[in-house]
Amino acid sequence: MFIFNIKNQLRTLLEGHDLGKYLRSHHKQSNGLWDISDGSLYRMFANGKLLLDRFGLSLLITTDGVPVFNSSNVSMWPASLMINELPAKMKKKFLMLIALWLGKGKPNCKLLFENLVDQIKLLSQTGFQWTFRNKKVSSTVDVIAVIADSVARAPIQNCLQFNGFFGCSWCEDPGQTYNHTHVYKFDRNSSLRTKESVEEFHASNSFHVYLEQKKICPAELYEARKNLRLFVERFELLYGLGNMTFNVHQLLHVCDCVGSLGPLWGYSAYSFEDLYGKMMKMFNGSMEHKKLAIKL
Ligand SMILES: [Zn+2]
Repeated sequence: MFIFNIKNQLRTLLEGHDLGKYLRSHHKQSNGLWDISDGSLYRMFANGKLLLDRFGLSLLITTDGVPVFNSSNVSMWPASLMINELPAKMKKKFLMLIALWLGKGKPNCKLLFENLVDQIKLLSQTGFQWTFRNKKVSSTVDVIAVIADSVARAPIQNCLQFNGFFGCSWCEDPGQTYNHTHVYKFDRNSSLRTKESVEEFHASNSFHVYLEQKKICPAELYEARKNLRLFVERFELLYGLGNMTFNVHQLLHVCDCVGSLGPLWGYSAYSFEDLYGKMMKMFNGSMEHKKLAIKL
């Protein structure tokens, strides 16, 4: 496993590509959800710190298994990050690799994230200095969300997987077993998790994790929420309880996610696929792990 230095990488990226002039340059003043910075999570983060601090950085972190075609035994799990304060196209261009796990099976998420959490905690408290237009500026760094698919989410949050009882991190619906499948019957009155129940849900303190068009206005979000609820309700009537899987149930929470983090494109896992594609091309099954890390 390889852990890379976040502070040094950020400094090199910001100074080497003169990214300071782009930070927050795309933030809109008008109403509606244009980007992750318009979501409630960003706006309320640490008493509005991210709205006020010109050079404050917030990150999205992701990890996922990348298949290694020429090696049946080894799998590769990179952890990478995206800077939210950059404009959309630049966010995808300037992704950073912060950890890499190579081995058999799945990685130990505690090991993978332990050092990263320590690095982020320190950067959040003390920040780091870098040079912008020949002046020293200071940036604090915070993680506001972790992108993970349903399988990776459970070990990262150290909670039950989606196919277990109470496996949904959004609500308190326990689900039920139906024909050997864990299903979620549509419940008009199911209640969302409170802050306390979310804390209870996460057995340990690792990362607190928390509609696709360019701009989403409140009326559109309201309409989308209403229609998705109707879709899920009718889905059960049409296809039966046996098909009310976790993926269908998640549609009930998509709008909460958009309210918190803005339009879906801003935190899509697809943004990281180019990076993973490049990494796969560098990887040769017989290559020593150290050589791969040096190449990266
Ligand atoms: Zn739920």
